[in-house]
Amino acid sequence: MEGLVIAMDGPSGTGKSTVSRRLATALDARYLDTGAMYRVATVWVLRAGVDPTDAGKVAEVVATLPLDIGTDPAAETVTMGGEDVSSEIRGAAVTKAVSAVSAVPSVRELLVQIQRDIAASAPRIVVEGRDIGTVVLQNADVKVFLTATPEARADRRNKQNVEEGRGDDYEAVLADVQRRDHADSTRAVSPLRPAEDSVIVDTSDLGMDGVIAALLQVVQDRTGVKQ
Ligand code: C5P
Repeated sequence: MEGLVIAMDGPSGTGKSTVSRRLATALDARYLDTGAMYRVATVWVLRAGVDPTDAGKVAEVVATLPLDIGTDPAAETVTMGGEDVSSEIRGAAVTKAVSAVSAVPSVRELLVQIQRDIAASAPRIVVEGRDIGTVVLQNADVKVFLTATPEARADRRNKQNVEEGRGDDYEAVLADVQRRDHADSTRAVSPLRPAEDSVIVDTSDLGMDGVIAALLQVVQDRTGVKQ
């Protein structure tokens, strides 16, 4: 099987996780959710009682993070010291604090190294995040940047919250999307932006099947790898 590394970046609510998992499954590849890693680091910080905006303390605490993350696109496994935290990392407290934790340079250095090691050990992998094409895997075979309007993204996230029993509040979700966009794209270290050689796909009005079909075509055109 030919090797293949796909970098999938973009803000939250663009359908990035679903697209990445489906693409990985279609290409018989592994899948790495780097956002989940920053979320686990945030759980570790919050459990330690540390203020997420105290960069010095955050750096100290995260240096001992016992993280383990799986790469099966069909089943997410995220553990911290052996404890399953896959549900806790999606909670509101973590979502609120994760931008601050992920802006700490030593946190990024640590997690980027783990991300590179995981990518190097898989023959084929789709890696999802914010800085994969620009920083983590600059030599990725295919770089994709998914975008969508803030309203379309808030609407998706709110529907997901309703489905998963986390309440229905579109305005609050929209405010959160805008706050995180701003924090992620203006931070000093690895700000969110498309890599120069990325394919930009706006998913606002595209169905999931359309997005997957378009991306499989991009992969085939750029690498010769077919589904
Ligand atoms: O993708 P997800 O929304 O779960 O990511 C959570 C947060 O982790 C993002 O808002 C961002 O602050 C951070 N993140 C990052 N770099 C990545 C992935 C996520 O800074 N590669």
